[in-house]
Amino acid sequence: MIPAAYAVLDLAAATHNLAVARRYAPQAKIMAVIKANGYGHGALRMAHALQDADAFAVARVDEGVRLRKAGIQQRIIVLEGFTCAEELDELLHHQLEPVVHTDLQVTIFERRTQHNLCPIWLKLDTGMNRLGFKPAEFAAIYQRLSRCTAITHPIHLMTHLSSADAQLDTTTPQQLQRFSHAVGHLPNPRSIANSAGILAWSSALSDWVRPGIMLYGISPFAESTGAQWGLSPIMSLHSRLIAVKPLAVGDKVGYAGTWVCPQATTLGVVAIGYGDGYPRYAKAGTPVLVNGQRVPLVGRVSMDMITVDLAQLPTAKPGDPVTLWGDGLAVEEIALCADTIPYTLVCGITARVQIMEKSGGL
Ligand SMILES: *Cc1c(COP(=O)(O)O)cnc(C)c1O
Repeated sequence: MIPAAYAVLDLAAATHNLAVARRYAPQAKIMAVIKANGYGHGALRMAHALQDADAFAVARVDEGVRLRKAGIQQRIIVLEGFTCAEELDELLHHQLEPVVHTDLQVTIFERRTQHNLCPIWLKLDTGMNRLGFKPAEFAAIYQRLSRCTAITHPIHLMTHLSSADAQLDTTTPQQLQRFSHAVGHLPNPRSIANSAGILAWSSALSDWVRPGIMLYGISPFAESTGAQWGLSPIMSLHSRLIAVKPLAVGDKVGYAGTWVCPQATTLGVVAIGYGDGYPRYAKAGTPVLVNGQRVPLVGRVSMDMITVDLAQLPTAKPGDPVTLWGDGLAVEEIALCADTIPYTLVCGITARVQIMEKSGGL
């Protein structure tokens, strides 16, 4: 039986999106970012779907360990690195590769006397002020790490762009400038660009690129959809109508009665809510597809249900299919209606939503 709320994943789209990333960065190796459970799509599932990537990236050691235990053999980079010697041990045991961004990590490596334990990704903070060494610290840190036998050389050099999705902003050129100034003529492999960097800043391409959101077929830019970049969305989210009823002028709908019926209409109740990951702050008017046709959300999103105005679709009946995003309704559009970004929507799908993989015929 099909559950009320389910997501369909078109994994063939992953291969397509990876090819798009390669087209934008033909000289670069691709580190496919599958942190946060593969942006809500399933990390292991995405590792299989993106098996032609040159490496994977996760945020945390435990995410990498889980992939290793499931048999993933490609290189796996841990973007947040490790915070103590024991965590480094675990990381090494599973052949993960840390991002090195604090003095403590350097000290831990200096205490290791073994040889070639793992490659590392030395991170520079070029203006995001999140992880990384300041450009002024770089030379000294690089020297210390160069003397560490425990590290497999060459050291990879990386930074992260804070504003690559703002195409007219001067932040990205500034960050690129700081990075190249700090690392100078070192021949080491470099990695800078996330999805927005890959799509919008050819100057940010380097030896390794780190696409995340674009691999899921989603645009990193607020003003466009993945389709406009030639990407295919992987996830679509579905449910169905479970009740249909007439409403009279003045009837209030949902918690706190925030929506007051302006003229007689038909209301549809859909079995999906914030308990499934549908955004609580989706505004009245957010589009929902019922039988493939757009109708507006009305009233507050509750835990298990939303309500829609079926004025344009009076023949709709309980059991009719509903699409919340995907299949003709871009998740980017829903994100705008909920004052958020599509990243949070796909990441936020909860365990109650059954995941189904689209096979050729579906
Ligand atoms: C999450 C992340 C990425 C991927 O970003 P997208 O915007 O999803 O492409 C790349 N690099 C780092 C360091 C990240 O944390």
